[in-house]
Amino acid sequence: MNSDFIPFARPDVGDAEAEAVADAIRSGWVTSGPVMKKFEEEFASYVGGGVEAVAVNSATAGLHLALEAAGVGPGDEVIVPTWTFTATAEVVRYLGATPVLVDVERDTLNISLEAVERAITPATKAVIPVHLAGLPTDLVGLKEVIAGRDVRVIEDAAHTLPAVGSAGVVGSGHASDAAVFSFYATKTMTTGEGGMITTRNHELAARARVMRLHGIDRDAFDRYTSSKPSWAYDVVAPGFKYNMPDTAAAMGRVQLRRADEMHARRTEIAEYYLNELADTSLLMPARAPAGQVHSWHLFIVRLPIGADRGSFIEAMADAGVGTSVHFIPLHQHSYWRPFAAEISKTLPNAVREAPRAVSLPVSSTCTDSQAAQVVQAVRACAP
Ligand SMILES: *Cc1c(COP(=O)(O)O)cnc(C)c1O
Repeated sequence: MNSDFIPFARPDVGDAEAEAVADAIRSGWVTSGPVMKKFEEEFASYVGGGVEAVAVNSATAGLHLALEAAGVGPGDEVIVPTWTFTATAEVVRYLGATPVLVDVERDTLNISLEAVERAITPATKAVIPVHLAGLPTDLVGLKEVIAGRDVRVIEDAAHTLPAVGSAGVVGSGHASDAAVFSFYATKTMTTGEGGMITTRNHELAARARVMRLHGIDRDAFDRYTSSKPSWAYDVVAPGFKYNMPDTAAAMGRVQLRRADEMHARRTEIAEYYLNELADTSLLMPARAPAGQVHSWHLFIVRLPIGADRGSFIEAMADAGVGTSVHFIPLHQHSYWRPFAAEISKTLPNAVREAPRAVSLPVSSTCTDSQAAQVVQAVRACAP
């Protein structure tokens, strides 16, 4: 690996983030407190729609809390696209419920609404659409599919800050019960580790706030600032330890202020790839429909059917370009195999498309000359 190697992903963080974290440390309040509350308020107003935002220490934690607050439990089925990261389905198992893994659409790689329709049973409690790569799932269409049934929609919005879909800004709560964003190191904005739940449902938000901190009815910050004595608290449920510390929130506030600028840069790189690679043998990722916005968290190209993906990835690395794979479909993993939807066990679109998929670097830290190097390498390595 030479010094010109372009890593697949690099967090876009610098002195402003470092200063903000240092300030949080110097304030003497390093765990969840005033900075986290500010971050929640700013995040809620960024996505809009009058949502409440609940900060947590990962999107996995946020998905777990959102499903718990939505009442998912043993005996329930939760429909999940097979083309996602394992976190989307594992949280369903945390609650003793059963994920039902369904196929994706061939062009968008998002959950197939027809597959959802086929997988619904009287036990279906929720659907978790994943806005893969940052391309929003059609939530208006999903709403129509589940209309008249008591089925919750919890969005896995780990890839989707910022994005606009058929139901408006992702996370603004117009066609779902809650959305969950990730601030993991490689995501479109980062707090190192972290996540955010947004919802217009006050009860859901309140339950998630209680459950993110041990099931205690007041958080530590309230206990030290409210007029009630600080020693008084009540445990109302066996909660979790999922709160976001102020040190992470401080970084998040700076990243959120930069979210549009970072998005503009990723969009520029994605447009450049779409233009420069259109005439190669690779299938380019779907664009967002007119009037909608793709976050371009990932740029997933597809090799010709039957091409050797391992060799392509190696050749790209030799040409100085890091790539990655998002994702190996869940139902092709040992643990998840039995959870594929009964009706279409083979999930044909995912099975056909996944072995062709490779993610190119689209980080906002990519310079013009790095993006040009990626294009050159793809043109040289594409079968
Ligand atoms: C990253 C990711 C998650 C989990 O996010 P964490 O913040 O790391 O817990 C969930 N779903 C998808 C689709 C992801 O890519």
